[in-house]
Amino acid sequence: MPQNKKYRNREAKNRVQLFGFLFGSGIFYFLATLPPIFLKRIPMPWLVCWSDPFAPGACPAGTLQYFFNANLFPFFGFGILVIIGAIFGRMVCGWLCPFGYLQDIVYRMRHITKWIVVGLFALLVVYLTWTSPMFAGMSLRQMSYSGLSTRAIIWIAIYLGIFGVLFALFFIKFKKFTISVKFSNWGRFFFFLFPFLLFPLLVVDPELNTGGPWFCKLCPSGTTFAAIPQFLINALPRDFFPFLGLDRQSPFIPYGMASYQDIRGMGQVMFGLKMSSLVLLLWVTMLSKRVFCKFACPIGFIYSGFNYFSAVRVVVDKEICKGEKCNVCWKVCPMDIKLYERGATSHCIGCLECVDRCPFKAAQLVRPGFLNFLFSRKHYLIAPKK
Ligand code: SF4
Ligand code: SF4
Ligand code: SF4
Repeated sequence: MPQNKKYRNREAKNRVQLFGFLFGSGIFYFLATLPPIFLKRIPMPWLVCWSDPFAPGACPAGTLQYFFNANLFPFFGFGILVIIGAIFGRMVCGWLCPFGYLQDIVYRMRHITKWIVVGLFALLVVYLTWTSPMFAGMSLRQMSYSGLSTRAIIWIAIYLGIFGVLFALFFIKFKKFTISVKFSNWGRFFFFLFPFLLFPLLVVDPELNTGGPWFCKLCPSGTTFAAIPQFLINALPRDFFPFLGLDRQSPFIPYGMASYQDIRGMGQVMFGLKMSSLVLLLWVTMLSKRVFCKFACPIGFIYSGFNYFSAVRVVVDKEICKGEKCNVCWKVCPMDIKLYERGATSHCIGCLECVDRCPFKAAQLVRPGFLNFLFSRKHYLIAPKK
Protein backbone atom coordinates (compact mmCIF):
# COMPACT_ATOMS: atom_id res chain seq x y z
CA MET A 1 0.00 0.00 0.00
CA PRO A 2 1.56 3.32 -1.03
CA GLN A 3 2.05 5.72 1.88
CA ASN A 4 2.95 9.39 1.98
CA LYS A 5 5.72 9.34 4.57
CA LYS A 6 5.67 13.00 5.54
CA TYR A 7 2.89 15.46 6.00
CA ARG A 8 4.63 17.88 3.70
CA ASN A 9 2.18 20.75 3.72
CA ARG A 10 1.23 20.84 7.37
CA GLU A 11 4.29 22.73 8.59
CA ALA A 12 4.02 25.27 5.79
CA LYS A 13 0.32 25.68 6.48
CA ASN A 14 0.89 26.15 10.21
CA ARG A 15 3.47 28.84 9.54
CA VAL A 16 1.25 30.66 7.05
CA GLN A 17 -1.70 30.39 9.45
CA LEU A 18 0.32 31.93 12.26
CA PHE A 19 1.35 34.78 9.97
CA GLY A 20 -2.30 35.21 8.92
CA PHE A 21 -3.32 35.34 12.56
CA LEU A 22 -0.72 37.93 13.53
CA PHE A 23 -1.19 40.05 10.40
CA GLY A 24 -4.91 39.54 9.87
CA SER A 25 -6.04 40.12 13.43
CA GLY A 26 -3.74 43.10 13.85
CA ILE A 27 -1.77 41.83 16.85
CA PHE A 28 1.33 42.30 14.71
CA TYR A 29 0.48 45.98 14.23
CA PHE A 30 -0.15 46.37 17.92
CA LEU A 31 3.28 44.97 18.79
CA ALA A 32 4.97 47.05 16.13
CA THR A 33 2.85 50.12 16.97
CA LEU A 34 2.56 50.56 13.23
CA PRO A 35 -0.68 52.26 12.28
CA PRO A 36 -2.58 50.68 9.40
CA ILE A 37 -3.99 53.71 7.61
CA PHE A 38 -4.88 53.22 3.97
CA LEU A 39 -5.42 49.47 4.25
CA LYS A 40 -8.46 50.10 6.44
CA ARG A 41 -10.33 51.14 3.30
CA ILE A 42 -9.70 47.82 1.53
CA PRO A 43 -11.71 44.70 2.38
CA MET A 44 -9.49 41.83 3.46
CA PRO A 45 -10.21 38.46 1.82
CA TRP A 46 -10.98 36.90 5.22
CA LEU A 47 -13.22 37.67 8.16
CA VAL A 48 -11.74 40.47 10.28
CA CYS A 49 -13.78 43.14 12.01
CA TRP A 50 -13.51 46.74 10.84
CA SER A 51 -13.85 47.78 14.49
CA ASP A 52 -10.78 45.74 15.45
CA PRO A 53 -8.59 48.67 16.54
CA PHE A 54 -5.51 47.11 14.96
CA ALA A 55 -7.04 45.37 11.93
CA PRO A 56 -5.10 45.85 8.71
CA GLY A 57 -8.21 46.26 6.59
CA ALA A 58 -11.97 46.24 6.40
CA CYS A 59 -14.08 43.12 6.87
CA PRO A 60 -15.56 41.73 3.64
CA ALA A 61 -18.77 40.66 5.45
CA GLY A 62 -19.25 44.16 6.91
CA THR A 63 -18.41 45.82 3.58
CA LEU A 64 -20.90 43.70 1.62
CA GLN A 65 -23.65 44.35 4.18
CA TYR A 66 -22.92 48.09 4.09
CA PHE A 67 -23.54 48.09 0.33
CA PHE A 68 -26.66 45.93 0.68
CA ASN A 69 -28.01 48.51 3.16
CA ALA A 70 -27.43 51.25 0.62
CA ASN A 71 -29.06 49.14 -2.15
CA LEU A 72 -25.78 49.17 -4.09
CA PHE A 73 -23.86 46.27 -5.53
CA PRO A 74 -20.44 45.89 -3.81
CA PHE A 75 -18.36 45.57 -7.00
CA PHE A 76 -15.00 46.19 -5.33
CA GLY A 77 -15.50 44.05 -2.21
CA PHE A 78 -17.16 41.23 -4.11
CA GLY A 79 -14.55 41.50 -6.88
CA ILE A 80 -11.75 40.81 -4.38
CA LEU A 81 -13.54 37.65 -3.21
CA VAL A 82 -14.18 36.56 -6.82
CA ILE A 83 -10.53 36.96 -7.84
CA ILE A 84 -9.18 35.14 -4.79
CA GLY A 85 -11.92 32.48 -4.99
CA ALA A 86 -11.31 31.85 -8.70
CA ILE A 87 -7.61 31.19 -8.05
CA PHE A 88 -7.59 29.52 -4.63
CA GLY A 89 -11.19 28.47 -3.98
CA ARG A 90 -11.74 28.37 -0.23
CA MET A 91 -8.05 27.98 0.66
CA VAL A 92 -7.97 31.35 2.42
CA CYS A 93 -10.06 29.70 5.15
CA GLY A 94 -7.56 26.90 5.61
CA TRP A 95 -4.39 28.96 5.38
CA LEU A 96 -4.97 32.60 6.32
CA CYS A 97 -8.17 33.50 8.17
CA PRO A 98 -7.38 34.43 11.81
CA PHE A 99 -10.70 33.19 13.15
CA GLY A 100 -10.32 29.88 11.32
CA TYR A 101 -6.87 29.50 12.91
CA LEU A 102 -8.26 30.37 16.31
CA GLN A 103 -10.87 27.63 15.97
CA ASP A 104 -8.15 25.14 14.92
CA ILE A 105 -6.09 26.05 17.99
CA VAL A 106 -9.08 25.91 20.33
CA TYR A 107 -9.93 22.41 19.07
CA ARG A 108 -6.40 21.01 18.81
CA MET A 109 -5.17 22.36 22.13
CA ARG A 110 -8.48 22.14 23.98
CA HIS A 111 -6.86 20.92 27.21
CA ILE A 112 -4.93 24.19 27.39
CA THR A 113 -7.30 26.57 25.61
CA LYS A 114 -10.13 25.50 27.90
CA TRP A 115 -8.34 27.12 30.86
CA ILE A 116 -7.34 30.20 28.87
CA VAL A 117 -10.92 30.70 27.68
CA VAL A 118 -12.39 30.12 31.13
CA GLY A 119 -9.84 32.47 32.76
CA LEU A 120 -10.29 35.21 30.16
CA PHE A 121 -14.04 35.18 30.36
CA ALA A 122 -14.07 34.98 34.15
CA LEU A 123 -11.93 38.15 34.24
CA LEU A 124 -14.07 39.92 31.66
CA VAL A 125 -17.31 38.98 33.36
CA VAL A 126 -16.09 40.11 36.79
CA TYR A 127 -14.85 43.41 35.34
CA LEU A 128 -17.97 43.89 33.24
CA THR A 129 -20.41 43.22 36.03
CA TRP A 130 -18.46 45.50 38.39
CA THR A 131 -18.21 48.48 36.06
CA SER A 132 -21.15 48.18 33.67
CA PRO A 133 -24.89 48.41 34.34
CA MET A 134 -25.42 45.44 31.97
CA PHE A 135 -29.02 44.32 32.49
CA ALA A 136 -29.42 46.14 35.84
CA GLY A 137 -29.49 49.86 34.99
CA MET A 138 -26.71 50.52 37.52
CA SER A 139 -23.28 48.90 37.85
CA LEU A 140 -22.35 46.93 40.95
CA ARG A 141 -19.75 49.59 41.71
CA GLN A 142 -22.46 52.28 41.65
CA MET A 143 -24.68 50.06 43.78
CA SER A 144 -21.89 49.66 46.33
CA TYR A 145 -21.46 53.48 46.51
CA SER A 146 -25.16 54.04 47.07
CA GLY A 147 -25.31 51.33 49.71
CA LEU A 148 -27.95 49.22 47.91
CA SER A 149 -26.40 46.00 49.17
CA THR A 150 -29.51 43.78 48.91
CA ARG A 151 -30.01 44.89 45.32
CA ALA A 152 -26.33 44.26 44.60
CA ILE A 153 -26.56 40.75 46.04
CA ILE A 154 -29.60 40.00 43.85
CA TRP A 155 -27.72 41.17 40.75
CA ILE A 156 -24.61 39.18 41.66
CA ALA A 157 -26.87 36.10 41.89
CA ILE A 158 -28.42 36.91 38.49
CA TYR A 159 -25.00 37.41 36.87
CA LEU A 160 -23.72 34.21 38.41
CA GLY A 161 -26.79 32.45 37.02
CA ILE A 162 -26.35 33.86 33.50
CA PHE A 163 -22.63 33.30 33.15
CA GLY A 164 -22.34 30.40 35.61
CA VAL A 165 -24.28 28.11 33.25
CA LEU A 166 -21.82 28.93 30.47
CA PHE A 167 -18.79 28.33 32.67
CA ALA A 168 -20.26 25.10 34.01
CA LEU A 169 -20.38 23.74 30.45
CA PHE A 170 -16.58 23.72 30.35
CA PHE A 171 -16.37 21.37 33.30
CA ILE A 172 -18.88 18.78 32.13
CA LYS A 173 -17.44 16.00 29.98
CA PHE A 174 -19.15 15.76 26.60
CA LYS A 175 -18.23 13.51 23.70
CA LYS A 176 -16.56 14.98 20.64
CA PHE A 177 -18.76 14.89 17.57
CA THR A 178 -18.58 15.44 13.82
CA ILE A 179 -21.10 17.33 11.71
CA SER A 180 -22.29 15.94 8.40
CA VAL A 181 -22.10 17.97 5.22
CA LYS A 182 -25.88 17.73 4.79
CA PHE A 183 -26.55 19.15 8.24
CA SER A 184 -24.05 22.00 7.95
CA ASN A 185 -25.54 22.92 4.54
CA TRP A 186 -28.80 23.89 6.30
CA GLY A 187 -26.94 26.13 8.74
CA ARG A 188 -24.82 27.93 6.20
CA PHE A 189 -27.77 28.61 3.86
CA PHE A 190 -29.76 29.97 6.79
CA PHE A 191 -27.00 32.27 8.08
CA PHE A 192 -26.12 33.47 4.60
CA LEU A 193 -29.71 34.20 3.61
CA PHE A 194 -31.08 35.78 6.76
CA PRO A 195 -28.67 37.78 8.97
CA PHE A 196 -26.23 38.39 6.12
CA LEU A 197 -28.29 39.02 2.95
CA LEU A 198 -31.98 39.63 3.65
CA PHE A 199 -31.91 41.38 7.04
CA PRO A 200 -29.56 44.19 5.87
CA LEU A 201 -31.80 44.67 2.83
CA LEU A 202 -35.17 44.49 4.58
CA VAL A 203 -34.91 45.02 8.35
CA VAL A 204 -34.27 48.53 9.66
CA ASP A 205 -31.80 48.90 12.54
CA PRO A 206 -33.46 51.32 15.03
CA GLU A 207 -30.05 52.76 16.06
CA LEU A 208 -29.01 53.53 12.46
CA ASN A 209 -32.46 54.16 11.02
CA THR A 210 -31.44 52.16 7.98
CA GLY A 211 -30.78 48.49 7.24
CA GLY A 212 -28.19 47.32 9.74
CA PRO A 213 -25.13 45.06 9.55
CA TRP A 214 -27.15 42.33 11.28
CA PHE A 215 -24.60 39.56 10.83
CA CYS A 216 -21.93 41.72 12.52
CA LYS A 217 -23.98 42.13 15.68
CA LEU A 218 -23.18 38.65 16.94
CA CYS A 219 -20.21 37.79 14.71
CA PRO A 220 -17.81 35.84 16.99
CA SER A 221 -14.78 37.00 15.02
CA GLY A 222 -15.83 40.61 15.65
CA THR A 223 -16.34 39.88 19.34
CA THR A 224 -12.90 38.27 19.62
CA PHE A 225 -10.83 40.72 17.62
CA ALA A 226 -12.82 43.94 18.08
CA ALA A 227 -15.23 43.93 21.01
CA ILE A 228 -12.85 42.36 23.55
CA PRO A 229 -9.81 44.53 22.64
CA GLN A 230 -12.01 47.63 22.64
CA PHE A 231 -13.41 46.68 25.98
CA LEU A 232 -9.90 46.16 27.38
CA ILE A 233 -8.68 49.44 25.86
CA ASN A 234 -11.49 51.22 27.65
CA ALA A 235 -10.64 49.44 30.86
CA LEU A 236 -7.05 50.75 30.80
CA PRO A 237 -6.04 54.18 32.15
CA ARG A 238 -6.48 57.01 29.63
CA ASP A 239 -2.76 57.75 29.38
CA PHE A 240 -1.74 54.12 28.87
CA PHE A 241 -1.54 54.17 25.10
CA PRO A 242 0.92 57.01 24.55
CA PHE A 243 3.18 54.87 26.74
CA LEU A 244 3.02 52.16 24.07
CA GLY A 245 3.61 54.63 21.28
CA LEU A 246 -0.07 54.83 20.42
CA ASP A 247 -2.45 57.68 21.00
CA ARG A 248 -6.23 57.37 20.97
CA GLN A 249 -6.55 60.73 19.22
CA SER A 250 -3.62 60.26 16.87
CA PRO A 251 -4.29 61.74 13.40
CA PHE A 252 -2.22 58.88 11.98
CA ILE A 253 -4.74 56.30 13.08
CA PRO A 254 -8.01 57.70 11.75
CA TYR A 255 -9.80 54.38 11.40
CA GLY A 256 -8.04 52.47 14.13
CA MET A 257 -7.60 53.49 17.71
CA ALA A 258 -9.41 56.80 17.32
CA SER A 259 -12.51 55.08 15.99
CA TYR A 260 -13.07 52.58 18.76
CA GLN A 261 -16.23 52.82 20.74
CA ASP A 262 -16.81 52.68 24.46
CA ILE A 263 -18.60 49.39 24.45
CA ARG A 264 -19.50 49.59 28.11
CA GLY A 265 -21.44 52.76 27.46
CA MET A 266 -23.22 51.92 24.21
CA GLY A 267 -24.67 48.46 24.44
CA GLN A 268 -24.20 46.49 27.61
CA VAL A 269 -26.92 43.98 26.83
CA MET A 270 -25.52 43.50 23.34
CA PHE A 271 -22.02 43.07 24.76
CA GLY A 272 -23.34 40.47 27.20
CA LEU A 273 -25.02 38.61 24.32
CA LYS A 274 -21.88 38.82 22.17
CA MET A 275 -19.75 37.42 24.97
CA SER A 276 -22.22 34.68 25.82
CA SER A 277 -22.52 33.54 22.20
CA LEU A 278 -18.72 33.57 21.82
CA VAL A 279 -18.26 31.48 24.97
CA LEU A 280 -20.87 29.02 23.69
CA LEU A 281 -19.21 28.82 20.29
CA LEU A 282 -15.75 28.24 21.77
CA TRP A 283 -17.16 25.55 24.00
CA VAL A 284 -18.77 23.76 21.03
CA THR A 285 -15.54 24.23 19.05
CA MET A 286 -13.70 22.20 21.71
CA LEU A 287 -16.04 19.32 20.89
CA SER A 288 -16.28 19.68 17.11
CA LYS A 289 -13.89 21.25 14.59
CA ARG A 290 -14.52 24.67 13.03
CA VAL A 291 -18.23 24.83 13.87
CA PHE A 292 -18.53 28.48 12.85
CA CYS A 293 -16.87 27.87 9.45
CA LYS A 294 -19.16 24.91 8.79
CA PHE A 295 -22.38 26.60 9.79
CA ALA A 296 -22.40 30.33 9.83
CA CYS A 297 -19.67 32.21 7.98
CA PRO A 298 -20.92 34.04 4.87
CA ILE A 299 -17.41 34.55 3.51
CA GLY A 300 -16.69 30.83 3.66
CA PHE A 301 -20.05 30.27 1.97
CA ILE A 302 -19.18 32.64 -0.89
CA TYR A 303 -15.77 31.03 -1.40
CA SER A 304 -17.23 27.53 -1.32
CA GLY A 305 -18.96 28.10 -4.69
CA PHE A 306 -15.54 28.52 -6.33
CA ASN A 307 -14.23 25.17 -5.08
CA TYR A 308 -15.73 23.38 -8.09
CA PHE A 309 -13.66 25.20 -10.69
CA SER A 310 -10.93 27.27 -8.97
CA ALA A 311 -7.43 27.02 -10.45
CA VAL A 312 -6.14 25.44 -7.19
CA ARG A 313 -8.44 22.83 -5.65
CA VAL A 314 -8.52 19.44 -3.99
CA VAL A 315 -10.18 16.61 -5.93
CA VAL A 316 -10.66 12.91 -5.38
CA ASP A 317 -9.94 10.18 -7.90
CA LYS A 318 -13.02 8.04 -7.34
CA GLU A 319 -11.52 5.04 -9.15
CA ILE A 320 -8.82 4.56 -6.55
CA CYS A 321 -10.62 5.96 -3.50
CA LYS A 322 -11.71 3.20 -1.08
CA GLY A 323 -14.54 5.26 0.41
CA GLU A 324 -16.10 4.10 3.70
CA LYS A 325 -13.53 1.27 4.02
CA CYS A 326 -10.80 3.86 4.42
CA ASN A 327 -12.18 7.24 5.55
CA VAL A 328 -8.74 8.59 6.45
CA CYS A 329 -9.64 11.91 4.82
CA TRP A 330 -12.71 12.23 7.05
CA LYS A 331 -10.72 11.53 10.20
CA VAL A 332 -8.07 14.18 9.48
CA CYS A 333 -10.29 16.81 7.86
CA PRO A 334 -10.91 20.02 9.86
CA MET A 335 -14.28 20.32 8.10
CA ASP A 336 -15.35 16.68 8.70
CA ILE A 337 -15.59 15.99 4.97
CA LYS A 338 -15.74 12.58 3.38
CA LEU A 339 -14.04 13.74 0.23
CA TYR A 340 -15.73 11.14 -1.98
CA GLU A 341 -19.26 12.22 -0.97
CA ARG A 342 -21.49 14.32 -3.18
CA GLY A 343 -21.37 18.04 -2.30
CA ALA A 344 -18.31 17.66 -0.04
CA THR A 345 -16.09 19.69 -2.38
CA SER A 346 -17.75 22.98 -1.56
CA HIS A 347 -16.84 22.61 2.13
CA CYS A 348 -13.15 21.93 1.50
CA ILE A 349 -10.85 24.64 2.88
CA GLY A 350 -7.79 23.31 1.04
CA CYS A 351 -5.75 22.54 4.15
CA LEU A 352 -4.16 19.59 2.26
CA GLU A 353 -4.23 17.24 5.26
CA CYS A 354 -6.06 14.60 3.20
CA VAL A 355 -3.71 15.08 0.25
CA ASP A 356 -0.79 14.37 2.56
CA ARG A 357 -2.40 11.46 4.32
CA CYS A 358 -4.62 9.62 1.85
CA PRO A 359 -3.01 6.14 1.83
CA PHE A 360 -3.98 5.57 -1.82
CA LYS A 361 -3.17 9.04 -3.15
CA ALA A 362 -6.76 9.38 -4.26
CA ALA A 363 -6.96 12.87 -2.77
CA GLN A 364 -5.07 15.14 -5.11
CA LEU A 365 -4.20 18.77 -5.43
CA VAL A 366 -4.98 20.36 -8.77
CA ARG A 367 -3.14 23.55 -9.61
CA PRO A 368 -1.72 25.30 -12.66
CA GLY A 369 1.98 24.74 -13.32
CA PHE A 370 2.94 28.37 -12.62
CA LEU A 371 1.93 27.89 -8.97
CA ASN A 372 4.24 24.89 -8.54
CA PHE A 373 6.61 26.95 -6.43
CA LEU A 374 3.96 27.10 -3.70
CA PHE A 375 3.55 23.35 -3.39
CA SER A 376 5.70 20.22 -3.31
CA ARG A 377 6.49 19.11 -6.89
CA LYS A 378 7.28 15.51 -6.09
CA HIS A 379 4.23 14.41 -4.25
CA TYR A 380 1.26 16.06 -5.86
CA LEU A 381 -0.10 15.69 -9.34
CA ILE A 382 -0.70 18.78 -11.40
CA ALA A 383 -4.02 17.34 -12.55
CA PRO A 384 -5.99 14.30 -11.44
CA LYS A 385 -5.62 11.07 -13.40
CA LYS A 386 -8.40 10.46 -15.88
S1 SF4 B 1 -15.33 30.23 6.97
FE1 SF4 B 1 -15.18 32.39 7.66
S2 SF4 B 1 -14.34 32.29 9.75
FE2 SF4 B 1 -14.01 30.28 8.78
S3 SF4 B 1 -11.94 30.44 7.97
FE3 SF4 B 1 -13.35 31.00 6.29
S4 SF4 B 1 -13.52 33.27 6.39
FE4 SF4 B 1 -12.63 32.54 8.33
S1 SF4 C 1 -9.88 9.98 -0.50
FE1 SF4 C 1 -8.19 8.72 0.23
S2 SF4 C 1 -8.33 8.91 2.46
FE2 SF4 C 1 -10.34 9.53 1.64
S3 SF4 C 1 -11.55 7.63 1.66
FE3 SF4 C 1 -10.63 7.86 -0.40
S4 SF4 C 1 -8.79 6.62 -0.26
FE4 SF4 C 1 -9.40 7.03 1.86
S1 SF4 D 1 -11.05 17.73 2.21
FE1 SF4 D 1 -8.84 17.59 2.58
S2 SF4 D 1 -7.97 19.55 1.92
FE2 SF4 D 1 -10.21 19.80 2.12
S3 SF4 D 1 -10.47 20.58 4.19
FE3 SF4 D 1 -10.69 18.37 4.33
S4 SF4 D 1 -8.62 17.59 4.79
FE4 SF4 D 1 -8.40 19.72 4.13
